[in-house]
Amino acid sequence: MDPTPKLRMTTQRQVIMEELHKVKSHPTAGELCQMVRRRLPRISLGTVYRNLDILSRSGLIQKLDVAGQEMRFDGDIRDHYHLRCLECGGVSDVEMALLTDIDQEVEKASGFEVLGHRLEFVGRCPSCRRDKRAN
Ligand SMILES: [Zn+2]
Ligand SMILES: [Zn+2]
Repeated sequence: MDPTPKLRMTTQRQVIMEELHKVKSHPTAGELCQMVRRRLPRISLGTVYRNLDILSRSGLIQKLDVAGQEMRFDGDIRDHYHLRCLECGGVSDVEMALLTDIDQEVEKASGFEVLGHRLEFVGRCPSCRRDKRAN
């Protein structure tokens, strides 16, 4: 598909963006569709999907696309790192400064021209750890 240099901001896209910005849960398209339907009851999952795709391609939202995982979306387009809980599947943000040396190190080691990096940490979230201890 062609990149979309000037994106027309339709009502659907506007509502999808607004709903996505309300949460920090990094929802899937299905979850977001439920949220959007409270305001646009007739919108289909396919339409939500298509618009999410266009919005992320235009750089207005972030798509978290990890192999083997259901795609999730993030209204926060700044570079930041994610935590993914392997037990409940929850995704949250890491509040820390970006690693600055890592790009150069990788470039040195590989000859690859590194333009940036995406990083996701996997493990167990605090609430799943608590549950584990309670058992
Ligand atoms: Zn968890
Ligand atoms: Zn995030």
